[in-house]
Amino acid sequence: MAASLLGLLTLLLVQPLVLFAWQDYKDYRVYELRPQGIADRKLIRKLSKEKPLWDFLGTTRNSNDSSLRVIIPPEEVDSSVETFRSYHLEHRVLIEDLAPLVQAQRAENIKRKEFIQMPHIEVLGAFYTHSEINEYLDSLPERFPKRVQVKQFGWSYERRPLKVLTISNGDGKRDKPVILIDGTVHAREWISPSMALYIIQQLLDNYSENQELLQDYDWVIMPVVNADGYEYTHTDSRYWRKTRRPTSNPECVGTDINRNFGYEWGHDEGSSSDPCEGIYRGERPFDQPESQVLRDVLLNYRGRLNFYLSLHSYGNYFLLPWGYTREFPERYQDMMSVADAGGMAIVHSTNGIYSWGSTYHVLYPTSGDTTDFALGVVNATVAMTMELPAAGFQGFDPWVSHIERLVTESWVGVRAMAAEVIRSYPA
Ligand SMILES: [Zn+2]
Repeated sequence: MAASLLGLLTLLLVQPLVLFAWQDYKDYRVYELRPQGIADRKLIRKLSKEKPLWDFLGTTRNSNDSSLRVIIPPEEVDSSVETFRSYHLEHRVLIEDLAPLVQAQRAENIKRKEFIQMPHIEVLGAFYTHSEINEYLDSLPERFPKRVQVKQFGWSYERRPLKVLTISNGDGKRDKPVILIDGTVHAREWISPSMALYIIQQLLDNYSENQELLQDYDWVIMPVVNADGYEYTHTDSRYWRKTRRPTSNPECVGTDINRNFGYEWGHDEGSSSDPCEGIYRGERPFDQPESQVLRDVLLNYRGRLNFYLSLHSYGNYFLLPWGYTREFPERYQDMMSVADAGGMAIVHSTNGIYSWGSTYHVLYPTSGDTTDFALGVVNATVAMTMELPAAGFQGFDPWVSHIERLVTESWVGVRAMAAEVIRSYPA
């Protein structure tokens, strides 16, 4: 009785806040667009600039058969259809009303977490907030005193502590080469922090099967880079991508961390100077606190960074430098061998199909992304973005029940690539 009264009171206290903050996506409609050729892709780029309320998801690849999705708010549904028709842009309704779907996923995740006792977490059992992930990271040194270290490298714009975990085999040897993995550069890509947590658990709780990955190498893992944006996807707006720092345009918040890095920053092909675009690069390189923190983490391992892996979703890609140019870096073939190992391991294990190559050629041009910086400035031996598989309605939003399939398959790839790096570049 006491418990249920307390529950009711908590509900009464919390509910209005939640309702006030949470964007429920009532009558938001999702279209699939099928651009045919360059003119259509240019049109989509133009629309994404002119319509800040339309949320374009996915990619316009350099191939003709690509499709992408766009979320349209109810007040612009009619005008959007007129626009598609007037430009003869192939389109179809995928979801009439996004609200019940977003609500169902949110309810599922909250319910799953009722049974989880923090700081113990079940990676496969739910999606966790930034503060829950930090609580888990902070609990690890006590459980693995010789093998892990948690270090805070700085703060997000909204003053969330940004933490990095170092995992070793505990033999006390210093300055081993490093495999550095980050997650959640883009806020809505929820499988990314789950994957980072799964890797941590493989290296710690499943150590007996993964010892050789830690024999001569240390692993450095930062599960959440864009802490404010990620928190915002839990509390306010599920499909948020960028940071939460205001821009020069009062209507448009946030910068794309993955266009804000200071190597070949600022090309219009591959980033945007418009704060309302999803790929807004910021006023200057590294003007986002979160970018500065990740930059400092990368620079901290300069000289022994043999593998930098940035976890994103979605699309099943291993993306190598460069993003900013069609040219290939000097060590491109060596990096391709690592991607080969990952792609082959996954296809053998689950029949999952990945594509790999330079970002510019395989996906689209990017300017100021983290992997170009990791190679161009930090001189990482291998730098790669891994686009994990799509799931859910929009690709970014797997159900809890999808987590196991996605992370176990992806681990097969990450493990094979790490092993290939360790074999090719012995300490
Ligand atoms: Zn991403």
